[in-house]
Amino acid sequence: MKVLVSACLFGENCKYDGGNNQDLKIINTLLAEGIDPVVICPEVAGGLPIPRTPAELQGDKVINQDGEDVTEQFMAGARAAVELAKKHGCKAAVLKANSPSCGCGKIYDGTFSGKLVDGYGVTARLLRKSGVVVYTEETYKKMLIDFMFED
Ligand code: SF4
Repeated sequence: MKVLVSACLFGENCKYDGGNNQDLKIINTLLAEGIDPVVICPEVAGGLPIPRTPAELQGDKVINQDGEDVTEQFMAGARAAVELAKKHGCKAAVLKANSPSCGCGKIYDGTFSGKLVDGYGVTARLLRKSGVVVYTEETYKKMLIDFMFED
């Protein structure tokens, strides 16, 4: 089974500040279960640089902290993630929680104050629309139950 994974969780230095969110527990669990990770950072795939100005969802738009509209880059990254998932037959994704691209269920509220609201990041939304089931580093164990132990 192949699973789409946020590149920063896998240790790629693709975060807005040039760092990563490497989570060895997830990486080791996926590999131990025989899961083949397909890694992407949608924001970089959409053409944004590393480092970059942080951005958050404000309604249907993604606006960075300098007030620039980066919705198109976020959408391009989301489309690239869907294409990659299709190409590899990924039915599930493990994405970084709370991100304006990758967040699933909770995202930052658009005020750059660290507050969370209910919602999905741009990529998580498009993946769900295309039928990919999305999880985060907080819920990925449910994916193992949902997919690995099915009949
Ligand atoms: Fe990580 Fe996703 Fe943000 Fe890229 S877009 S740094 S993969 S949370």
